[in-house]
Amino acid sequence: MDYVIYNNQIVPKDSVHISMEDRGYNFGDGIYEVIRIYNGTPYTMEEHYERFSNSAKKLEMTLPYPIETFYMLTEQLIRKNEIRDGLFYLQYTRAVAPRNHLYERNMEGVVTAFTREVPLNIKDQSEGIAVIATDDIRWLRCDIKTINLLGNTMALRKAADNKCSEAILHRNHLVTECAASNVFIVKDKKVYTHPATNLILNGITRQLVLHIANELGLELFEQPFTLEHLMDADEVFITNTNVEIAPVISISGDISNHYSIGPITRKLQSSFTERKINALTK
Ligand code: PLP
Repeated sequence: MDYVIYNNQIVPKDSVHISMEDRGYNFGDGIYEVIRIYNGTPYTMEEHYERFSNSAKKLEMTLPYPIETFYMLTEQLIRKNEIRDGLFYLQYTRAVAPRNHLYERNMEGVVTAFTREVPLNIKDQSEGIAVIATDDIRWLRCDIKTINLLGNTMALRKAADNKCSEAILHRNHLVTECAASNVFIVKDKKVYTHPATNLILNGITRQLVLHIANELGLELFEQPFTLEHLMDADEVFITNTNVEIAPVISISGDISNHYSIGPITRKLQSSFTERKINALTK
């Protein structure tokens, strides 16, 4: 049987009923996190929960219990569902209340979480992915990990319709991030990615990759770059919890190019794996 977290309990999935007046359901008024599970262990769980509590603060949401309780429930659910390699998805919606745009502060919200067994996408990691470049039509608080994701889902639909697996987004030719990942370019051995402003989600994988790149002594620039720079890059790769680091091998849409998978992307991938194995075998 599949179990889930519902508020502060682990219960059978089929026993959960979500209210029609849940503000997550009515307004997309909620936040979420996705944590990767390796060998039964949630990886970088503390970093994910730190971002989760920052998202809550930015939206003036009050979490129902301490972060340590979230840790405990997360580990319990993974054990209960016997997940080896997969994903843990958690969301928190602001409240169940009569539908009204105006929210009250300190409302009691609803926690739900599920797990899913999903092997690591080795194919995308090793062979790379095709992406589309398209307008970033999202709002101006992309730093908050909200469940309100229409700008992202529409971009991903467009990508899939063009036989691509991710969309690289730009605002007036300045590249921000992707529909569900961050994007990096390498030019003349220098690594560039958009700074962690309100225009991107500061990915946990992005932060890890920056840390690793720094340890490797690579020259790093957290600064916006243009579609022209993207076009002209030696290497392009994307990062997120699910795929870790995936090279980009072709781009279509607002620009069009092919890239080979370069040595810096490969080095970052192998260092990422090494660091993960070290952390998990401690
Ligand atoms: N940017 C967006 C818009 C995302 O949805 C995600 C992940 O879902 C990321 C970046 C990467 O974040 P992380 O590395 O924490 O998974």
